[in-house]
Amino acid sequence: MGYSGFKVIKEALFGHKGWTPAWRDPEPKTHYDVVIIGGGGHGLATAHYLAKVYGVRNVAVIEKGWIGGGNVGRNTTIIRSNYLLDGNEPFYEFSLKLWEGLEQDLNYNAMVSQRGIMNLIHSDAQRDAFIRRGNAMILNGADAEYLDEAQIRAEYPFLNFDDARFPIKGGLAQRRGGTVRHDAVAWGYARSADQHGVDIIQNCEVTGFRIEGGKCLGVETSKGFIGAGKVASCVAGSSGRLMAKANMRLPIESHVLQAFVSEGLKPVLPGVITFGAGHFYVSQSNKGGLVFGGDLDGYNSYAQRGNLPVVEDVCEGGMAIMPMIGRARLLRMWGGIMDMSMDGSPIIDRTHIDGLYFNGGWCYGGFKATPASGYVYAHLLANDAPHPTATAYRFNRFQTGDMIDEKGMGNQPNLH
Ligand SMILES: Cc1cc2nc3c(=O)[nH]c(=O)nc-3n(C[C@H](O)[C@H](O)[C@H](O)COP(=O)(O)OP(=O)(O)OC[C@H]3O[C@@H](n4cnc5c(N)ncnc54)[C@H](O)[C@@H]3O)c2cc1C
Repeated sequence: MGYSGFKVIKEALFGHKGWTPAWRDPEPKTHYDVVIIGGGGHGLATAHYLAKVYGVRNVAVIEKGWIGGGNVGRNTTIIRSNYLLDGNEPFYEFSLKLWEGLEQDLNYNAMVSQRGIMNLIHSDAQRDAFIRRGNAMILNGADAEYLDEAQIRAEYPFLNFDDARFPIKGGLAQRRGGTVRHDAVAWGYARSADQHGVDIIQNCEVTGFRIEGGKCLGVETSKGFIGAGKVASCVAGSSGRLMAKANMRLPIESHVLQAFVSEGLKPVLPGVITFGAGHFYVSQSNKGGLVFGGDLDGYNSYAQRGNLPVVEDVCEGGMAIMPMIGRARLLRMWGGIMDMSMDGSPIIDRTHIDGLYFNGGWCYGGFKATPASGYVYAHLLANDAPHPTATAYRFNRFQTGDMIDEKGMGNQPNLH
């Protein structure tokens, strides 16, 4: 079904009885050209670009739960491209450009809101580091702006500028960063992939791979065997568990990350604020809730819920930088499983098994990467060669030592 202003008005007048499901609910075929495992943002985006850009339409997305039930519907919705390293910045800037055209591409309102993101600076050394990062961003075609303390005071007067440990000395802004309604991203990609002929199979768990003579022939699932020319793993936090079924051990650990939302408030935050020194970041949703988060829970887990000491730690970070947050009541909190790679950067590559491909290691940053991750993974699946912006995301960097050790992403999960 096409969406238009006319359709919205017509449905409003006639009791909204004419809407049909946004995607089909097909039974799996016996064979596909490409089977994508995982119906999160990345899996669905991969299917969309494979079908729409690369013309590969005999594709299935196999999801063990429901579309949007994983991290794509659990994250704090922040998008940005403020990375330092050459391996990362062109990729994330490519992603931000895709976000800027996403709603037109999908004909779907994903509430892309470029309200800006601000990284706070607390010392002269940190100022140097952030200015270096801003210059790297500009050299890669992104936008970056240094703000001094007076400018931050004018934009964010409610922050605690005189904290004894972390006085605010300035900030690095990226005005094109912001937020996107996360579950609308999943729904928009799912709808578009379906319209291009992709089968989205929900409530179907991949339980194993059929590998013969070093070639992957398809996947064993809770709905039976599904044959495939190519199999593409895209299960984010479940990467280690899934790839173990192909006897692969990944340089990835799974950890819990929690997020929080307050009761709805009047508009108070103009954009996204990150307080990296205190492990706290916050934005305000379109419904008015303050959406915030902080550090990982710090132990390996596949549980989608966290523990109380981290709740205390995140709230302490919030109180330190923005004391007024103490007057807001907490509405909800939840957790998601993070696929933390050992250098903090993703892997998008072929595996040593013919016909088996891997996408994962997204750490904290996978939501903002969704469009580019889908695009470059589709490119890899269609051409068997990496997309120019993703040439660094290979498995073999852990052998050759060419780590993409981005500050703020960490070199091991418990130090992030
Ligand atoms: C609390 C929190 C806050 C975050 N905030 C941000 C943020 O502000 N900005 C940002 O850029 N990133 C953020 N992230 C990270 C981001 O959400 C993830 O990196 C990204 O969503 C992962 O990709 P995905 O959407 O494909 O994952 P998912 O949505 O988790 O998709 C993976 C899917 O695979 C399915 N699956 C797993 N195993 C199987 C199987 N065996 N068979 C079939 N299906 C299977 C799962 O059910 C799941 O639906 C945050 C994450 C969390 C948890």
